[in-house]
Amino acid sequence: MNLYSLLAANFPKDDKAPCMILSDGRAWTYGDVKRASGRLANLIVALGLKPGDRVAAQVEKTPEALVLYLAALRAGMVFLPLNPAYQRHEIEYFLGDATPGLFVCRPQVSGLASELAAKAGVKQVLELDDSGRGSLIDAATPYSDRFKSVACKDADLAAILYTSGTTGRSKGAMLSHGNLIANAKTLHAYWHFQPGDVLLHMLPIFHVHGLFVACHCALLNGSAMLFETKFDVTRALKLLPQATVMMGVPTYYVRLLLDKNFGREIVCNTRLFVSGSAPLLKETFDEFKARTGHIILERYGMTEGGMFTSNPYAGERRGGTVGFALPGTKVRIVDDASNPVKSGVIGNIQVRGANVFVGYWQMPEKTLEEFTADGFFKTGDMGSWDPDGYIVISGRSKDLIITGGLNVYPREIEEMIDAMPGIDESAVIGLPHSDFGEAVTAVVVRKKVGAGGTASITETEVIAVLKAQLANFKIPKHVHFVDKLPRNTMGKVQKNLLRNAYTKT
Ligand code: AMP
Repeated sequence: MNLYSLLAANFPKDDKAPCMILSDGRAWTYGDVKRASGRLANLIVALGLKPGDRVAAQVEKTPEALVLYLAALRAGMVFLPLNPAYQRHEIEYFLGDATPGLFVCRPQVSGLASELAAKAGVKQVLELDDSGRGSLIDAATPYSDRFKSVACKDADLAAILYTSGTTGRSKGAMLSHGNLIANAKTLHAYWHFQPGDVLLHMLPIFHVHGLFVACHCALLNGSAMLFETKFDVTRALKLLPQATVMMGVPTYYVRLLLDKNFGREIVCNTRLFVSGSAPLLKETFDEFKARTGHIILERYGMTEGGMFTSNPYAGERRGGTVGFALPGTKVRIVDDASNPVKSGVIGNIQVRGANVFVGYWQMPEKTLEEFTADGFFKTGDMGSWDPDGYIVISGRSKDLIITGGLNVYPREIEEMIDAMPGIDESAVIGLPHSDFGEAVTAVVVRKKVGAGGTASITETEVIAVLKAQLANFKIPKHVHFVDKLPRNTMGKVQKNLLRNAYTKT
């Protein structure tokens, strides 16, 4: 089945029901979405693209951008969303690798886009600006708003999402209609989406979290989305009373808690707060509960398959864990010899299920390497089972530190450092060391105090506290203090940047 057809079958009967409510109060109804996606689908076909061709979009978050995704689905094309932050070098690679039939870009970079498109042999370049206007929309205007969505098989590709590629060439994860449908249905049911739900949508839509997890749940529910271009605390405080569900990365919750106006009255109508894409600190989880009475539901997944695990909706949501395997997804944790690990022992997380991606675009060998013989995908994440079977993520295996032949899991040390008074947050990395192979190194942000000041905790103090609790080989050789940690748009700490920065010094 075509994913769009499934979503559309669940749209409200009333075409006037709101689908996206914008910050200026304008609303896109479900009828608008059907008509605009029909028109764009007709345009894409008229441009000569055939099912399976790629439609790349590097545009700002607008209703038209989401509708372009839906149009690509309807026409059987493969949607390729690109972070607007990407520059020449990155765009050149994506266009060359994915060879889309159509590239939709922002007008302010149309010169560059056309140059790179020509180089990559991309035939069509159209524009869409941040107010939803541009040659894409103009070109679609003459076309009919009716379009019969093409029939799809489960394995037909719906999207390619490039991974952030912090350890080499960025890889295009191929997701099929079947993959996206499986995950959308599971999440919709597992998180108890219900009539009347309204989703606060402040995430970007070039990423799995904002585009698939958030939009698919809302569209499958025929819900309204409070569709904001980005996360903003003031806007969130204003809109939360109208929202029943919010999805965010941990940073959003941290920022809400920093605002003294955030409290129980603001969240009186919200039934669910979902967090993911990066680890939610236990401290944030606890503080959120104390301030609002709500227990954030943390889930875990990745571009290569959407969501794999979730804390329960109805049962106990446990801070510091990502819950259990979702229905339809098998999760196992194995050691380096592929044997299942016992509870409490950290191993490699592997997943299998209808949601798990088809493979990496034009990288058959890489795809083969990343799957086991029995069809499990090696996520590259490490984790363990807690005594009750909740999964605890310890971080990416590439961030594992091996010092003097011994494994050090950064998260264990980070949690201890973060719990020290005077410390806001930390990242623990391994740096090349002639003797130990890698040297454990901590990069730490002190808590802000007073007007513009910071807590005075020192390297010696941090090390002393750790020494009282941890084996010597885990103790950082150095503690560097910084104003803030480098994070990407999804709130992930970019440890590769830290490793580069401190390797040079
Ligand atoms: P992405 O493909 O950009 O969504 O990134 C996926 C990666 O984010 C995963 O492989 C994990 O390393 C990390 N991640 C996602 N959710 C969580 C979570 N709840 N806790 C810890 N790490 C997470």
